[in-house]
Amino acid sequence: MKETIKNLKKVYSYGKKYKKSLIIQIVCCIIGIIINVTIPLISAKLIVNFTDSMWNQALFMALILLCVSFVNEVKTLVIRKNTQIFRRGTVRNMQMALGREILKLEQSTLDSNSSGVFIQRLTNDTDKMSGMFTTGMGKLTGFLSNIGSFIAILIIDYHMFIYYLLAAIILTILYYIKNEKVGKKDIEFRNQSDKVAGLTGELVRGARDIKMLFAKESFMKELDENIKLQSEKNFEMRNTDMKFNLVIDLLKDFFEFITIVILVYLVTKNAVTVAIAIALYSYKTTVLTDLMGTVSSLLEEIKSFNISSNRVFNIINSRKYKKEKFGIKHINKIIGNFEFKNVSFSYDNINNVLTGLNLKIKENKTYGIVGKSGEGKTTMFNLLCKLYDIQEGTILLDGIDITELDEESIRGNITIISQNPYIFNLSIKENLKLVKNDITDEEIKKACHLACLDDFINNLPNGYDTIVGEGGVTLSGGQRQRLAIARALVQKTKIILFDEATSALDNETQSQIQKAIDNLKDEYTIVIIAHRLSTIVNCDEIMVLQGGKIIDSGTHKDLLKSNKTYKKLCETELVEK
Ligand code: ADP
Repeated sequence: MKETIKNLKKVYSYGKKYKKSLIIQIVCCIIGIIINVTIPLISAKLIVNFTDSMWNQALFMALILLCVSFVNEVKTLVIRKNTQIFRRGTVRNMQMALGREILKLEQSTLDSNSSGVFIQRLTNDTDKMSGMFTTGMGKLTGFLSNIGSFIAILIIDYHMFIYYLLAAIILTILYYIKNEKVGKKDIEFRNQSDKVAGLTGELVRGARDIKMLFAKESFMKELDENIKLQSEKNFEMRNTDMKFNLVIDLLKDFFEFITIVILVYLVTKNAVTVAIAIALYSYKTTVLTDLMGTVSSLLEEIKSFNISSNRVFNIINSRKYKKEKFGIKHINKIIGNFEFKNVSFSYDNINNVLTGLNLKIKENKTYGIVGKSGEGKTTMFNLLCKLYDIQEGTILLDGIDITELDEESIRGNITIISQNPYIFNLSIKENLKLVKNDITDEEIKKACHLACLDDFINNLPNGYDTIVGEGGVTLSGGQRQRLAIARALVQKTKIILFDEATSALDNETQSQIQKAIDNLKDEYTIVIIAHRLSTIVNCDEIMVLQGGKIIDSGTHKDLLKSNKTYKKLCETELVEK
C-alpha cells in the first residue's frame, strides 16, 4: 500500500499540469459511486417495506432510475474525455523525463544493458503507469460502488450480511495470493520481453550487417530461442493464473450452494419472507462475482502499476543505473589545448587499456596518433569527452581538470568524427540544425562547402532537404564522415578528433576528406587517429601509442629515423588489418 501511494505521488508529479482533468474525473467517479450506492439502498428499503399500495411510489422510482441512467451516461462521457487528457499528458511528461535520464546515464551503464531495457520502459511501462489513474480509477469506483450492495444487504438481513462478508473476505484473500504469485511470474516475463525487444530492435537496425554477415539463420535462431523463452514465461504466468482461477471458481460455486442452503433455512424458520430471500439471492452475483472481479482486477492493476513504476523510477532515481557527473566550472571562450597526465584507464577494472599515459596537445595544431589496433586510441578520445571516467591521473582541458568542468565546456567544445558517425534519419539540413537550432541557410552552405560536401548535396534532387535514412544509410561512409565534419563546423567545436576509417575508402573520397581536414587546419585543434600515411605526413606532431602509453613523438621525418615501430607501421602503410 505504502509503495503504491509513493509511486502514485511520483507519477502524479508528472501529470500535475492536467490536475483539472483529474479533478473532473474524480468528481464524476464520486457521482458514479453515489448513484451506484444509493440505488441498491433505495431498492432494499422498497423490498423490506413493500405493500400493494406502493405502486405509485414504484412508478416514481422507475422514473428516477431513468434520470439516473441518463446522468450515468453523461458522466461516462466526461470521464472518458478527461481520462485521455490526463493520461496522454502524463505519459508524455514521463517519457520526456525518462528520455533525459537515459541520456544522462554513464556510457558503461548503457554499454552493459540491452537497448530493449530502455525501449520497453520508455513505451510500455510509462503507459501502464498512467493507466492506474484512468482504468485503475474506474476499477476503484466499481469496487466502492459494490460496497453499496453490502450496505443494502445489511439493511435487509444481518445474517446474510455476515455470511456474504465472510465469503467475500475468503475470496479476496485467495485473489490476493493469486496476484502475488502471478506478479512474480509477470516480472520474469517482462524481463524476458526486454531481451526480445532488444533483439528485435537489433534485427531492424542491424539488418544490413546481418545480411552481409550471412548470419540470418543464426540470428533468427537466437531470436527464436528468446521468443520461445518469453512464451514459456508467459505460459507459466497464465498457468498460475488459471490454476488459481479454477480454485476460486470452485469455491464460488460452493458459496452459491451454501447461499441457497442458508436462505432456505431462514425461510423455513420464518426469519425472512420468500420475496426477501429472492432479493437476497439476487445480490449473490454482485457480492461473489462482481466484487471479486473488481477487487482482483484492481489488485492486478496495482501490481502491474508498481512493477512498471519501479522499473521506470529505477532508472530515474536508483543507484543501479549510474548517472554521469560533471563539475561546475565553465569555459567561456575555449583556447583549445588539452593534456593527459599520467592517465590510467580500464573498462573492466581488471585489464588496463591505458597505463600512465602522458600527452600534450596545443591549440590550432594538427596531430596524428598511430598504433596497432586495440592499443587504446579511440579510448583516448572517449576519455577526453568524459564518456568514461579515468581511474588514475588527470585530463586537462585548457589547463582545467575535466572533472571540474560542466558538460557544455567539454562536449560543446569537442567533436569526435568517428569511423562510422551516427547520422539521424532527418534531412541533411535538419541533421545540422540538431546541433544549432538557429542556424541560417548561409551557415549550412558554408559548413558543407568546407566539409567538401556541397557538390554532392547540390546534385541531390531535394538538395539540403534530402532525408538520409536511419543512421545515414543512404550516404556512403565518406559522405557520412563529411556530414559529421560539417556538423562539427556548425557546432563550432574548437577541438576536432578524427577516428579515421579503417575501411578502404576510395582515393577520391579519401582526398576529399583530406581536403576537408586541410580546410580546418590552423583554426582548429585537430587530432587524427591515422590509418594511412597520407593523412598524417603533414601533421605538426605524430605520436606513437604502444602498451598503453605514448612511446615516441615527432614529425613524420623524425619518427621514420628514430622509431622502429613507426617505421614498421609506415611500411605496412599504417593500415591495421
Ligand atoms: P583502438 O582505437 O586503438 O583500436 P580501442 O580504444 O577501441 O582501440 O580499444 C582498446 C581496448 O579496449 C580494446 O581491447 C577493446 O576491446 C577495449 N574496449 C573498447 N571499447 C570498450 C568498451 N566499451 N567496453 C569494454 N572494452 C572496450
